[in-house]
Amino acid sequence: MTGTYPHVTLNNGISMPALGLGVYQSKPEETMGAVATALNTGYRHLDTAAAYFNEAEVGEGIRQSGIDRSEIFIETKLWISDYGYDEALHGFEKSSRKLGVDTIDLLLLHQPLPAHFDKTMAAYKALETLLADGRVRAIGVSNQSPEELERLIAETDVVPAVNQIQVHPYYTQPEWRAANEKHGILTQCWSPIAGAYTYNGNEKNPFTEPTLVDLGKKYSKTPAQVMLRWHLDHGFSAIPKSVKPERIAENFDVFDFSLTADDIAAIDALNTGVSGSIDPDSITLEERGMPIPE
Ligand code: NAP
Repeated sequence: MTGTYPHVTLNNGISMPALGLGVYQSKPEETMGAVATALNTGYRHLDTAAAYFNEAEVGEGIRQSGIDRSEIFIETKLWISDYGYDEALHGFEKSSRKLGVDTIDLLLLHQPLPAHFDKTMAAYKALETLLADGRVRAIGVSNQSPEELERLIAETDVVPAVNQIQVHPYYTQPEWRAANEKHGILTQCWSPIAGAYTYNGNEKNPFTEPTLVDLGKKYSKTPAQVMLRWHLDHGFSAIPKSVKPERIAENFDVFDFSLTADDIAAIDALNTGVSGSIDPDSITLEERGMPIPE
């Protein structure tokens, strides 16, 4: 790897490596190896969630890597079944215990849960307490619409540092990104190489997309690397997932080039406006509120 690993400064002054390894759908038995491989490749940021059921394996991967915990930015998310004030404090304890760490660098609310926004708000207030107590270094949200952000900010004290949302060249989310920017909230991009778009059966394939293939040829990079560079050049954080060592390395080898304004505009123009996933507001406690084990 050549070039400098970019970092972003969150709205509370905390520095976060812009590129991290995501582990959604990484099977528990694959997660430890993927995490250790990523850390030994140079990654210093990991994104997991209570609802991925692999926090313990993320912790094991950290220990297996031999990299000191203090060098690693650990991000996780509370699931909706742990919303409410006391429940969220307990949810943090479960996550930190499974990860094997005392402090979590960034803790997010995974979903907005609009039908129980009171519980969402109470959970966010618990995040504020954890922040004040030094148990987490930054707090944020995920999948929150501009309207939900307005409401949350009006009713709480700490503006989220991050809103983790689906962003990739086929779904660029300009309105949600603008709302984040308006409040000084960093946009962190899930499915950054269009994973959700691809595995949910949409017809377009970013890996054969002419714009991305041509830009790859221009810079001697793959379409995945071009997409990741697009995120970094926009100033976003991106958390690509892979369990394959060669792809983990490929996705990290993006610091030795940058895109021009025209290149970025050409990728922006690939937006279809079609989400690769379900509407986050359709996720309900009744249907998806599975318990998170101790
Ligand atoms: P993604 O990172 O865009 O794509 C992952 C898919 O692409 C996997 O199937 C992976 O397979 C494959 N892949 C990885 N690198 C590749 C490469 N260089 N060339 C070709 N294929 C490649 O999608 P994602 O996993 O949905 O999103 C990334 C992370 O975002 C998640 O792991 C999770 O941490 C987070 N996320 C958050 C939410 C939320 O609601 N907040 C939702 C979804 C995801 P292999 O593993 O086999 O390589």
